[in-house]
Amino acid sequence: MNTADSELIMGILNGAGFEPAHTLDEADVIILNTCAVREKAEARILGRLTNLVPFRRLRPGLMIGVVGCMAKHLGDKLVQERPYVDFIAGPDQYRNLPEMIRSKRRKAMIQTEFDRSEVYSGCTPTRPRGVTAWVTIQRGCNYVCTYCIVPHVRGAERNVPAADILSEVRRLASEGFSVVTLLGQTVNSYRDGDINFARLLRMVAQVEGIEQVRFTSPHPLGFSDELIDVIATEPHVAKFVHLPLQSASDSQLALMRRKYTFEEYQAIVRKLREKCPEIAISTDIIVGFCGETEEDYLKTRQALIDNRYAFAFLFAYSERSLAIAAKTMKDDVPAEVKQRRLAEIIDIQQKISKEIYTSYVGKRVEVIVEGYSRKHAEQAVGNTRDFKTTIFDKGDCEPGDWVEVEIDSATSQTLVGHLVRIIRKSGPIQVQEQIEVGISLGPTES
Ligand code: SF4
Repeated sequence: MNTADSELIMGILNGAGFEPAHTLDEADVIILNTCAVREKAEARILGRLTNLVPFRRLRPGLMIGVVGCMAKHLGDKLVQERPYVDFIAGPDQYRNLPEMIRSKRRKAMIQTEFDRSEVYSGCTPTRPRGVTAWVTIQRGCNYVCTYCIVPHVRGAERNVPAADILSEVRRLASEGFSVVTLLGQTVNSYRDGDINFARLLRMVAQVEGIEQVRFTSPHPLGFSDELIDVIATEPHVAKFVHLPLQSASDSQLALMRRKYTFEEYQAIVRKLREKCPEIAISTDIIVGFCGETEEDYLKTRQALIDNRYAFAFLFAYSERSLAIAAKTMKDDVPAEVKQRRLAEIIDIQQKISKEIYTSYVGKRVEVIVEGYSRKHAEQAVGNTRDFKTTIFDKGDCEPGDWVEVEIDSATSQTLVGHLVRIIRKSGPIQVQEQIEVGISLGPTES
């Protein structure tokens, strides 16, 4: 979501006449687009801000801005503690960035209000050229999971009109993008009139030129049979679902206000695997949430073993100040217990992922080529239909091609193989490195 928002911000600024700088030294404006979901992400941004102080000393005209969730979360406090921050914009205020930058006010500008209708209609993100594109279809979240800060920093759910999404995807296809990932906090709660997420997914998958559609993240509540059917039957929908579990203990799920039981979650996993045997599933898990007993934890650990996720994002609970749990519950699992539980499940998951990835060795898989390896220019990188990152000697293939690769080895995150044949060529596509968010004022601006 943050990468997509950075591209949106780039688009808004490009549209207003600003141009990207390629290094921090060149930039007249430096914008940090931030995440507040975890304490660690915030700490990293504070560290980055400290690193920018020398740039500001050397170039007094340089403007520094902080945008995104952390801007909304910390607002005034951030400016008080870091007086060299010139502007702060929350996730619904990106349209105002050109004006904030042009005003060149030395007193910090803070705009963090929610706008319940803002879906950035008419704003075209500036994406690096290539094969894959993020497409935001929903902003904000209507759930109130007690550990989560997102609804407090991104506001209530708003859905981008289906017609806008489809015209964006058609435009992307005409520009050579063939893999799109639909983004939303609870992407399967999407609705525009009688178009629900399952219908939208099918429509996007049927856009000419689109070879693969992924989506993230769905919520287990409302993960309908209709959606499972689209995933199973639509050839251009990736055979991969990220399905956050968080905990396998019903009492923990209730405290987290996740609105499903473990059995309801398992029913979705069973149906997905029954209707689509080749499906890969990943998840999110939090250990050490308020009141988690050893028994609760062991249920989650067992679910991780039984469900055999392709991969999992595993976290020890950390309190976020605006979240409901921070205000009403006691963070009572000792840090060493949280860390022990986390270390155990990381170890278990790594072994499972390694087993799953190793089971591909000797097999041939279909891969869509998404680019070239940064480390080894002669290697191509792509993903299988079930979203397994695959590296192989590129031969004659190019980004956008479908190829057949025989797998020679695997880590717990990557398949490594050699090219067998090119199944289908795409048109020529230029792949561009992503530019760090640093904006240089164009000639008309300086
Ligand atoms: S569904 Fe829950 S965890 Fe996900 S963004 Fe919304 S409140 Fe946060």
